[in-house]
Amino acid sequence: MSLSFSGPFAEADAALQRFLDKGAASYEARRNFDYGPAERSNVSELSKFISHRVLFEYDVARRALAQHRPETVDKFIQEVFWRIYWKGWLEHRPAVWNDYVVFDHHTIPERQFQQAVTGKTGIDCFDYWSAELQNTNYLHNHARMWFASIWIFTLGLPWQAGARFFMQHLFDGDAASNTLGWRWVAGIQTSGKHYVARASNIEQFTNGRFSPHHLNETPLPVASSKTYDIMPLDNHTQYQKKYNKLIILENDLYMKSEHEYDAYDAVFVLRPDAVVRSADLARPVIDFKMGLVSAFCEIHANAQDIDAAGLRAMAASQPGFDVVYPAIGDHLDGLYQLRDESGVALHFLKRPEDLFCWQYATKGFFNFKKHIPDMMSFAQ
Ligand SMILES: Cc1cc2nc3c(=O)[nH]c(=O)nc-3n(C[C@H](O)[C@H](O)[C@H](O)COP(=O)(O)OP(=O)(O)OC[C@H]3O[C@@H](n4cnc5c(N)ncnc54)[C@H](O)[C@@H]3O)c2cc1C
Repeated sequence: MSLSFSGPFAEADAALQRFLDKGAASYEARRNFDYGPAERSNVSELSKFISHRVLFEYDVARRALAQHRPETVDKFIQEVFWRIYWKGWLEHRPAVWNDYVVFDHHTIPERQFQQAVTGKTGIDCFDYWSAELQNTNYLHNHARMWFASIWIFTLGLPWQAGARFFMQHLFDGDAASNTLGWRWVAGIQTSGKHYVARASNIEQFTNGRFSPHHLNETPLPVASSKTYDIMPLDNHTQYQKKYNKLIILENDLYMKSEHEYDAYDAVFVLRPDAVVRSADLARPVIDFKMGLVSAFCEIHANAQDIDAAGLRAMAASQPGFDVVYPAIGDHLDGLYQLRDESGVALHFLKRPEDLFCWQYATKGFFNFKKHIPDMMSFAQ
């Protein structure tokens, strides 16, 4: 669905169209190259919008298919579905998120950590990406993989600290994609299979920009014997209004139209700086999120941003709120805390498209992707 709004919603729409016109046709062949911040036409750079659902994954896939033959955009659509897959995988295993959140950051070797986050390790590509992340709030997918691998296996730092560093600085920081992306590199997501950054691969896919020395290219995967039970999803949730007031979090701002939430007396969008998070967000990330929230509130006549104290005060006088389900992560943790402290009822609106897709996310992505045609039909 393409909406004719101004501000970031229009910007997102234009960015998608630009990618579909110019980058999509060669995406599969060129997507793994990281040519640097000045040349990103080989990837979409849409993640900052998709992760807040300013662009809805299913709409992105539909628009790609409307403009290109399926085989041309197959890889791109698969990548978009990776995001849905990771979310579903984590929904089935909430304890993975809980374990990540309680990691004790005091155990991190301080000197190596400071060198990594200030870009002073002496590994030129790594130091460059550390600065790029903090200056642009984006890293190419391949750079994220190399960076995480060097962080864990060459610098010997805990993956949880790297995941938190990413969450602080990425515009697209996402509980599922980030936590599970780091676990995957470490070798605990797919047991025993870790991602090893190799100098030759970095040289090839940075187009010769970097040729690092002294990487640990023969590490063992991070050891973990912990297994997680697969929890059933609450598939019976109805996407139906129950209360008169609605809460929205900044990571799901999707709307079919500006009238989508007209039936509510009031729509409260929690201010990004009011969310208690497992990582303190960098100022540009807060500002970016606040820009999206403000744009959303301008579009919806009955919407307003609200801080945590305002929401707590409101909760004291309400029987309950409907809430657009934000999926596992900091937002959901904060909502549970609000519910426990105030006694207010929360009625989660889980999007039917997500619930349909998440049922296939119990195993690996290979199995999940076989269902993409069904998922796309369901999301019509
Ligand atoms: C260690 C690590 C941490 C990551 N952390 C995040 C994160 O916090 N948030 C996030 O959105 N992505 C994360 N990713 C996935 C991926 O790197 C980014 O989604 C991608 O680089 C965004 O750039 P793009 O929009 O140009 O991607 P494109 O290549 O143009 O892909 C199109 C869209 O598909 C989705 N996508 C692509 N690759 C992946 C993937 N591997 N996993 C999930 N979704 C994907 C994104 O929504 C992206 O916008 C992480 C990957 C790794 C290895």
